[in-house]
Amino acid sequence: MKRILWFRRDLRVEDNPILSLGGEVLPIFIFDTQILNALPKDDKRVSFIFDRVIKLKESLQDKGLDLKIFWGDPVEIFRVLEAQGFDEVVASGDYDAYAKERDIRVSHLLHFRYMYDTYIFKPEEILKDDGTPYLVFTPFYNKAKALFSKEHLREYTFGEHTLYKTSYEGITKIDDKEEILPLDIDSIGFRENLPRIDQLETKLKALKDNLSIYAKERDYLDKEVTSHLSIDLRFGTISIRSLLRFLVEQKNRGVDTEPFFRQLIFRDFYAYLLFHFPDLAWENYKYRFNGIEDEEKYSAFCEARTGVPVVDAGVRELLQTGLMHNRVRMICASFFTKDLLLPWQWGESFFAKYLLDYDAASNILSWQWSAGTGIDPQPYFRIFNPYLQSKKFDKEARYIKKWIPELRDVDAKKLHDESYLLNYSIEKYPKPIVVHKEASQYALAYFKQRL
Ligand SMILES: Cc1cc2nc3c(=O)[nH]c(=O)nc-3n(C[C@H](O)[C@H](O)[C@H](O)COP(=O)(O)OP(=O)(O)OC[C@H]3O[C@@H](n4cnc5c(N)ncnc54)[C@H](O)[C@@H]3O)c2cc1C
Repeated sequence: MKRILWFRRDLRVEDNPILSLGGEVLPIFIFDTQILNALPKDDKRVSFIFDRVIKLKESLQDKGLDLKIFWGDPVEIFRVLEAQGFDEVVASGDYDAYAKERDIRVSHLLHFRYMYDTYIFKPEEILKDDGTPYLVFTPFYNKAKALFSKEHLREYTFGEHTLYKTSYEGITKIDDKEEILPLDIDSIGFRENLPRIDQLETKLKALKDNLSIYAKERDYLDKEVTSHLSIDLRFGTISIRSLLRFLVEQKNRGVDTEPFFRQLIFRDFYAYLLFHFPDLAWENYKYRFNGIEDEEKYSAFCEARTGVPVVDAGVRELLQTGLMHNRVRMICASFFTKDLLLPWQWGESFFAKYLLDYDAASNILSWQWSAGTGIDPQPYFRIFNPYLQSKKFDKEARYIKKWIPELRDVDAKKLHDESYLLNYSIEKYPKPIVVHKEASQYALAYFKQRL
């Protein structure tokens, strides 16, 4: 068998299903111009991917293989490869609308073999008794636990391969003509801007220490209790099964791993929903709430000028690092869709532009959850009070002050006190652009009219 192994969301050698089949192989990675053309030239994710692709190439070389790196439109690249007599292309699943359509087009050129890797369950594995998909998380979770078996922990071993003979030098650009470019990020039109993130080993060591307090403390903004593994899961620099095996080990040591496992199932649930209901990417599942398009409010949010400290701190964290604590994502998304009454799609695309761990399913479904418009959403009338949230989860305002140093000398209590912020001026920091109670009452009336 002569196979093309197409790495996408699985940038690793360990426990990788596509490396388990063996045969004569051409491992490839494609810098997809359809995706890259829309991104700013200093996008941190491109730097991260570039760095991991080079590491993947080195790891494959250590195993006697290599990685041919392309730059261009995947369909055009496969048109070129098709002429070279391959039997099939092997890749792991990618569920967003663009990926699904691209894969279908590639499958018209070469036999396309999917290997499941990215999530714990296959999308058709968990269904209701009547064969339809679950719409509510808790029954999905219960069924997931009931169906969870050793197969979901399987470790894929490295197959017997021979490397397809071709040049593995540089980056192969496929355009009107074929061209070999130097192996650096400038060749694909980007500037290096690597995000500062811990090594995977460091994260796993910290997770081991934090698992027992994860459930109780993960919502606190100034505590580093969550795993920061979302970017690794997004790009497959960790195998989901190896993370599950790690959890089993911890469970066998007596640690309660269920709260963390539950979050991984949330990730699966969102991918599952987007797979079964692809229109959710742009359409509400429920209600006709569209929000009100208001460029001024939108700019204030995106430039961290809302005057609500926890919201502005979250947006600054996002802009500076590409990360945002989960609780702050929830607070920001609620403020955006309720207090500011802006369309959730605008917030979704703002997060999509900056999140290092951007994942279409998790982001879209979380925004729809916050807006109250998705499948299994929070009730539309549940509106977070951002001041009570920050008082509870950032009592000493350490998180707020870290990201908004202008507020360093303001007493923490005042930063959770809306009436203080509305009535007193703070040097170099704006007053709140909305009054929470009024804005939420207005939003509720607006929603009720459209029920
Ligand atoms: C508005 C909004 C947008 C979001 N956008 C994304 C996104 O684009 N990409 C993304 O990976 N997550 C997204 N999330 C979910 C969550 O915020 C992140 O997964 C989490 O903050 C990542 O940090 P961590 O790895 O330290 O998480 P941990 O708490 O350590 O959780 C472990 C893993 O479980 C998964 N997970 C945890 N919480 C959730 C959740 N609520 N939904 C789905 N998966 C979860 C992630 O893969 C995470 O890495 C979003 C949440 C909200 C409210």
